[in-house]
Order: sequence, then structure tokens, then C-alpha cells
Amino acid sequence: MRLRILQYGSPVLRSKGQRIEKIDDRIRRLAADMIETMRAANGVGLAAQQIGEPIQLTVVDVSQIEDRPSTLKLNGREVDPKTASPLVFINPEIVLGTETSLGVEGCLSFPEITGEIERSQTVHARAQTLDGSMVEIEASGLLARALQHEVDHLNGILFIDRMSSAAKAALASKLKRMQKETERGIRKNRRPLETEHAL
Ligand SMILES: [Zn+2]
Repeated sequence: MRLRILQYGSPVLRSKGQRIEKIDDRIRRLAADMIETMRAANGVGLAAQQIGEPIQLTVVDVSQIEDRPSTLKLNGREVDPKTASPLVFINPEIVLGTETSLGVEGCLSFPEITGEIERSQTVHARAQTLDGSMVEIEASGLLARALQHEVDHLNGILFIDRMSSAAKAALASKLKRMQKETERGIRKNRRPLETEHAL
């Protein structure tokens, strides 16, 4: 089932996600619905906060991305990130690599905005998968960026928080308008402008 993606101004986007103690049918259904929702929006990632659930669950899919490469190791074994997608991560813990780079990001909760964000080029992470097992993740490229963006969501952090103050100042009036429209419910049923490959 396709879910509604909440827009900037929705308070739940600022909530830290609760740890998932039990991976049951509800969580499995939610993950499947989030994958369907992300794909329908041409997104690369989606966090549970964005569909109104403040819990530690995120999905990522780089299978449609041709121009921004990724690498992935799962439990030390190199896998094709496209074949491994969609990826579901539960209760992820992330360690950032030291080398950083700037890259363009969009976010499904900010349909009209993109920004240059500095992120680590590589990440190490540990997370549970839908079958409850623990997996070690080593990622680089777009996938590393996506994981950082999604783990931020799970902690109530939004990509605008990581923009330069100049970029944020340039977006200030737009952000204010988005927030007001969300609060008034205007954005609720409006089909958002799509930002390709948003997170
Ligand atoms: Zn996002």
C-alpha cells in the first residue's frame, strides 16, 4: 500500500525514532509499504518518520541510479548494490569515514528543494534486517550518502540542518512557506513536485 509522505513542517520529522524491539508482521508490512512508496516517488531512500512512524526503520534503493556509483559490502562480502536493493535497515548504528565530499541531495519531504551537503564518502554500519539477523554494512558513494541522510531522519535531523548558512538563508522564505502550508494542511493532498532520486 502506498503511504503518504509527510512534508516539512510535520512535527514527526523532528522525532527521534524509537528502537524496534520486535520485528513482527506490522514492521514487515510497514517496510514493504515504505519500499512501494519510495519507488512510486522515484526516491532512493525513505525513513519511517517520513510516513509518520518515529521508529528506527529505513529503506534504501539505488537500483535505478546510473550516474552516481555506489559500493556495498555486507558482512565483509562485496555485493552489487543494485542487486541487493531494496535494502531494509532496522535499528542502524553508523560510523562515518573521515574523508568527506560535497554532493547534491534532495529529500522526499522537501519536494521543491535540493542542496549541496557535505557527507562522509564511506560509512560502516550495523543494522538488523527483516529476518532479525544483524548485518555489517560497508558502503561508499551514493549509498553511503543515502545511509547518512536516512540515519539522520531516524534521529530527527533534516538535510537543511546540514546546509551551509548561506544556502539555508537563501531558502528561508521557501522553507517558511512550506512549513505554513503543511501546518494548514494545504500540502496534504497536493501532489508534490518531484525531485529526482530524493532521499
Ligand atoms: Zn529525506
